[in-house]
Amino acid sequence: MPPGREPPKARELGRADRVMPGIWRLRLPITLWPGVPHVNAYAITAGSGIVLIDTGLDEPGALGELERALGHAGAKLEHVRLLVCTHAHTDHYGLAAPIVEASGCELWMHPNYGHMLAGAEDPAAALERRVEVARQSGVPIEALRAYQEARKGSPTGIARIIEPDRELLPGVEIETDLGRWQVYETPGHAPSHVCLHQPEKGILLSGDHLLGRVSLFYDYGHTPDPAGEFLQSLDTVERLRAGLCLAGHGRPFRDVQAHIDANRVSVSERMSRVQTALGRGPSTPFDLLPDLFAVTREELNPMMVSWGLQETLSYLTHLAARGEVERIDGEDPERWQLRPA
Ligand SMILES: [Zn+2]
Ligand SMILES: [Zn+2]
Repeated sequence: MPPGREPPKARELGRADRVMPGIWRLRLPITLWPGVPHVNAYAITAGSGIVLIDTGLDEPGALGELERALGHAGAKLEHVRLLVCTHAHTDHYGLAAPIVEASGCELWMHPNYGHMLAGAEDPAAALERRVEVARQSGVPIEALRAYQEARKGSPTGIARIIEPDRELLPGVEIETDLGRWQVYETPGHAPSHVCLHQPEKGILLSGDHLLGRVSLFYDYGHTPDPAGEFLQSLDTVERLRAGLCLAGHGRPFRDVQAHIDANRVSVSERMSRVQTALGRGPSTPFDLLPDLFAVTREELNPMMVSWGLQETLSYLTHLAARGEVERIDGEDPERWQLRPA
């Protein structure tokens, strides 16, 4: 989701909207993140119980909101037969441990969730690493100190780390009353990201890979080329020709191809902004942020810096792999330049 584009809203209550017989969208409020008011989980009927897709973020009252939403769908936590996480971000995985505890269900998730462990096992060390990446990317030292102070001891959004019972990989099928769902690896937004597809009904559970409104985020630093991986994952879901997409944020939508195209256009536009800015001369990743967001340096907020640096570094890495930009050797903070043709 995009940083800083919407003012924070008053807390909503968890609720369920029936998408079609057998599937409910559970709309779960988030208070911790400005600009991201809620996340969707999905309850799909399966025999005498439900399969739950994603969990919501762990924060005070969040489990109660999940129970409230499930109640609207006529279900309770104890009815969850299987918990599936589309990826290991806190808003999709944070409540996994208490859900498993309450229901005794299994958790299935893609094995590349090391990016989550890195943040959840030792939050202080993870903050230290983020600050170092920001320093090396040219963020001014006073801004770094303010960010570090503000974030120190802030909640991780994960109730407790819990390992999956089964690796969610292609070939694994999820049985529900609506039929079997197949697993497609879709890294880019996060290394652990998968989409689930129900071929007979043409439904895609897209997690954060495709969203109701285009909003790019890459988990940078865990894989070689997050932006390139994201573009390949768009090709993966395009081949499915799904007719209905149930996303991790926002309303369900049917114009799936238009959303895929809009994501490609957005990546290409935002990558061009980075290249155009580099055309004015060598820059640190931080120097490129105002161009990425089309704002002045003064208008950058901490969330834009934190998420925008990951996006900028992902584009620089991708453009470097394509031979179009290069990092200048031996500079700290790092600077990048266009590669001479
Ligand atoms: Zn996510
Ligand atoms: Zn999300």
